[in-house]
Amino acid sequence: MQLPDKNGYFGEFGGKFIPETLSVCLEELTASYHKIKRDRGFLKEFNYLLKNYAHRPTILYFAANLSRLLSMKIYFKREDLLHTGAHKINNSLGQALLAKYMGKKRVIAETGAGQHGVAVATASALLGLECNIYMGEEDIHRQSMNVLRMKMLGAEVIPVKTGSRTLKDACNEAFRDWVTNVRNTYYLLGSVVGPHPYPMLVRDFQSVIGKESRRQILKQESRLPDYLLACVGGGSNAIGLFYPFYQDKKVKFIGVEAAGFGLNSLHSASLVKGELGVFQGSRSFVLQDYFGQIQNAHSIAPGLDYPGVGPEHSFYKSVKRAEYVAVGDDQAVEGFKLLSETEGIIPALETSHAVAYLKPLSKKNKGSLVIVCLSGRGDKDLDIISKYKTEYGRSDKEIRGKK
Ligand SMILES: *Cc1c(COP(=O)(O)O)cnc(C)c1O
Repeated sequence: MQLPDKNGYFGEFGGKFIPETLSVCLEELTASYHKIKRDRGFLKEFNYLLKNYAHRPTILYFAANLSRLLSMKIYFKREDLLHTGAHKINNSLGQALLAKYMGKKRVIAETGAGQHGVAVATASALLGLECNIYMGEEDIHRQSMNVLRMKMLGAEVIPVKTGSRTLKDACNEAFRDWVTNVRNTYYLLGSVVGPHPYPMLVRDFQSVIGKESRRQILKQESRLPDYLLACVGGGSNAIGLFYPFYQDKKVKFIGVEAAGFGLNSLHSASLVKGELGVFQGSRSFVLQDYFGQIQNAHSIAPGLDYPGVGPEHSFYKSVKRAEYVAVGDDQAVEGFKLLSETEGIIPALETSHAVAYLKPLSKKNKGSLVIVCLSGRGDKDLDIISKYKTEYGRSDKEIRGKK
């Protein structure tokens, strides 16, 4: 089976829901991508960069202490050890190189938390591409460290003052720019979302995570894992891990979404709580209200704060190839501390959602072999964690106290 089909559909999900003006841009991109996918020169250069610049292959680390504690065999795929500290660099390098092969001199992107912006600015600096990052004014204030990083890397950060001045508005501005400047400009999307061909090409660039993991676990354990576990924002680190195991029907996939703050809340869980809709150019599960308006997502993890999810995940859910669960802020903070204290590894808050789910998973799965995608390092989140108790934690405990 070939996923997606030639129109970009994963079953009933995906596709291209875009204004007419964008279709020329996307058609050029699709054609170029199919060409470079089989181009020896491109693949050689991409693999060279992954190895010598990003620092691949990343290790598959056996977490002995945590395994003993939870009575499972737990491995972590260490994407946190990559240059810039997360899996996002795999995709940015792949697409920036594609831009170069397409003869584009300029790369644009939109960013919310700034992590994707930093990865794009990094790849652009390396490959000598001009880089413009659209960012909502509100987000610029909240993420000043990442704004500074992008500037250091030679990128221009363009503040977006329209609408709610966040990611959604930055996205609109970036698309407007692309339509106007497509002759010399490449639009670099950060996750397995958006119109075809982005969900496919981002997945392909991130699949290196799963390909390496499969080879490594066979070497280290002489068998395939029982579970693959990954956090899901847009869904790129999860699909990157899952996809190369797609045909291994005995390997179960679990995607962990963010439930956000408070008990029984599902503020950022598109797959667990969302409904079918069209969002940012493709059909997928999305958080919307009774009238079909897109709802804002909320999570303690900046990278999971997104109301949509990639169409391939919606497909995996609908055919029951993967299961999706939601983990709240409190649990994520527990997961953060658990991995830090038992293994000496500080995970990103996004990743901490997947770590947190190990505990409930272990209840009924003693002895299981599990691979968790450690999508990023947590240094960037220390500030949030140190403020958590006073800003969110106490009031949440108060809510519990009253029950
Ligand atoms: C951005 C980010 C995520 C969420 O993005 P996906 O596309 O769902 O992978 C998860 N973990 C880290 C560390 C991130 O930076």
